[in-house]
Amino acid sequence: MDTKEKEKMKRTSDILLKGGKLLGESCPKCGGLLLQYQGRTVCVNCDNINEIGKNMVVSTMDMTLRIQSLVSKKIEEVAQNLEKEEDIEKQTHLAELLLKYIEVLRKVSRSKKNESKKDSKRND
Ligand SMILES: [Zn+2]
Repeated sequence: MDTKEKEKMKRTSDILLKGGKLLGESCPKCGGLLLQYQGRTVCVNCDNINEIGKNMVVSTMDMTLRIQSLVSKKIEEVAQNLEKEEDIEKQTHLAELLLKYIEVLRKVSRSKKNESKKDSKRND
């Protein structure tokens, strides 16, 4: 067995340990083993299984950052409107909106922390 084969075996067992399932089917492209992992069908030859887990984490982080920057922009907009607004009722409405956005920001940064904690704990 060459190094490449050993690597494949290692990746296959890794993915099974992570909760992946053997599909008992072969890859139409290369005839390699197909596995079901995180809702995706992956081939031990065609897909880099190690990369799949990494990409999932990155996309969660990306989403968190996107929400954070979006909400930060909105907070700025609302704050500017609030500054200009003279109608008390509208001010109240804007202030409530601000609080909601701040709450979203808090929740997002909290979930980001939990996410990284989970990931380092899993570390698999
Ligand atoms: Zn394949």
